[in-house]
Amino acid sequence: MSRDSQSTTQSSAGPIVGIDLGTTNSVVACFDERGPYILDEDAGPLVPSVVRYSSAGDTVEAVGVDARLRAVEFPDRTIASVKRLMGRSARDAASDQPFLSYEIVEGAHETARIRVGERIITPQEVSAEILRELKRKAEAALGTPVQRAVITVPAYFDDAQRQATRDAGRLAGLEVVRIVNEPTAAALAYGIGAGASAPQTIAVFDLGGGTFDISILAITPAEEDDNSPAGADFFQVLSTAGDTHLGGDDVDHMLFRLLATEISQQFDISLDRDVLDLTASIRQAIREFSESIKITLSAEESAHVRIDLGAGRFFERTITRDELDALLAPWIDQALVSCRRALRDSKLEASDIDRVIMVGGSTRIPLVRRRVGEFFSVAPYTALDPDLVVALGAAAQASILSGDDRSRLLMDVIPLSLGIETAGGAVAKIIVRNQSAPARAAETFSTSVDNQTSIKLHILQGEREMVEDCRSLAVFHLAGLPPMPAGIPQLEVEFLVDANGVLSVSAVEKRSGKRASLQVVPAHGLTRDEVERMETESLTHAREDMTRHRIVDLIANTQLDVKWIRAQLDRLSADLDPDYRADLEKRIAYLDDIITRAQSDWRSVDPEDFHSAKQALDEASVRMHEISIAKSLREDENHPA
Ligand code: AMP
Repeated sequence: MSRDSQSTTQSSAGPIVGIDLGTTNSVVACFDERGPYILDEDAGPLVPSVVRYSSAGDTVEAVGVDARLRAVEFPDRTIASVKRLMGRSARDAASDQPFLSYEIVEGAHETARIRVGERIITPQEVSAEILRELKRKAEAALGTPVQRAVITVPAYFDDAQRQATRDAGRLAGLEVVRIVNEPTAAALAYGIGAGASAPQTIAVFDLGGGTFDISILAITPAEEDDNSPAGADFFQVLSTAGDTHLGGDDVDHMLFRLLATEISQQFDISLDRDVLDLTASIRQAIREFSESIKITLSAEESAHVRIDLGAGRFFERTITRDELDALLAPWIDQALVSCRRALRDSKLEASDIDRVIMVGGSTRIPLVRRRVGEFFSVAPYTALDPDLVVALGAAAQASILSGDDRSRLLMDVIPLSLGIETAGGAVAKIIVRNQSAPARAAETFSTSVDNQTSIKLHILQGEREMVEDCRSLAVFHLAGLPPMPAGIPQLEVEFLVDANGVLSVSAVEKRSGKRASLQVVPAHGLTRDEVERMETESLTHAREDMTRHRIVDLIANTQLDVKWIRAQLDRLSADLDPDYRADLEKRIAYLDDIITRAQSDWRSVDPEDFHSAKQALDEASVRMHEISIAKSLREDENHPA
């Protein structure tokens, strides 16, 4: 079938959405010619996988956020984590009963069902309510009926669990065009396989709120000459392992226990099996603080809490990231035990893994990233939001199935230059377009302002010379630098684009050793047309852009030099002959004037004039440098160390 007739089929049947039907949260995504994107509403992208029924169990009262928020009020009729029951027997599901607030009963063919009031509900029906909510959300965002979906399931789901997921889709009025493994979807979201020439082995490390899964995938790219449609790469799950009760919730419990024990000791409040003798709302507040401390410590080095315990008592505590890391070490070790098992089952060594993809909210914890990176000896992929990556991959699969996979940019060459913002809003290109991937390049920069303790790194893509004409990919900060004069810090910035097209940027300030890094997928949301447009624009504006970049750089360099010369003029006041001083001051005034004009309208300045004036000042100031050095030496002789 030709692409045209396939697109016609697609438009008559409406869009295909990608759905991550998760244990805790679900997400729906779609695609257009720019690639997959999340269907978002004011409430945010995540729909809590929670359904509340009426007390008789015959009607649905709430799905999503509202059902989750009021779960503690209606524990026996609020159904959360239904994914744990999908397609399972009541006997198998019984091990989950202690973690669930509602009652599991046995239905026909020994299947697990849920009792709410008088009614016995199947897990498929509950999942269908969540899917219906996602369908509604997608229809509202797209403004068109949605009848088809790709839905993801864990790689270890058996036939019964996959069939139950299909049934849930059907009940929700969705044709499930494909069930895709979650780790495969994560790889697709990163464009893995697209255009690559060599087979790859990928580990997908999925650590959510309550579950941990590790999957090892082998990806064999489609042969270039076999005429298979884009995306026909072969994804094979080599092994899976995990722990159905390991996740971020454990971290919240550990922090809760730490706070509860200290509160109990400090205020002499009794603590019995994790229950403090305080009101339910204060206990709930302490639980919420536990999660927010954890989330703060993913971004900051320390987190401070002040908890009102009532009766004029306040508990205050600052928890550092090091303290949390020490608490988490055994918890991460447990996840790594599963990783070892998965490797053993697929008969591989950690060093055989080419790439690791991070999925699930708990992979935002820096220690998790670090330990996983050390375990597999590769920096894990974190460029895409770990809560959204599976839904994005489901939408990528939907795009392939609808024959509309124009979004994929082959990454064997880097289509647009990559660089960082420098002083005055110019862009320094670090990797230039059309280099083949993988590519690595580094450059050293410094600061233009005194005593900067944090340096902003703005990553850009495009061919133009100024920030405003390029595409902004990401911003991050290298913080915690000791104050130093402008020009003294040595910031080495390294760009690495790997064979899958993922860009890792790392920055190190060499004098202090401070480091920071970040990943992005530069091809995300870019179409071939856009690449072409950006290229054409750069040609049209080439001369103008070059001039502007040159002037911006001249301004930054002149300002730094003039600042130094002015400081020397003050220091050497008695040592300089007045004519020489006047000459330097005249040159500085001339340059000051050029800079003022350039800053209001760069076109009003002739770059050649500017450059010669700057050069003339440089030459004229050589004598002052010599006088300055001689004076410093004299001072040293008079005051030996
Ligand atoms: P998921 O099941 O993938 O939605 O993951 C949810 C888990 O991720 C919960 O335990 C959250 O507390 C945790 N989480 C979300 N954001 C962060 C963060 N920034 N740092 C640490 N944990 C987080």
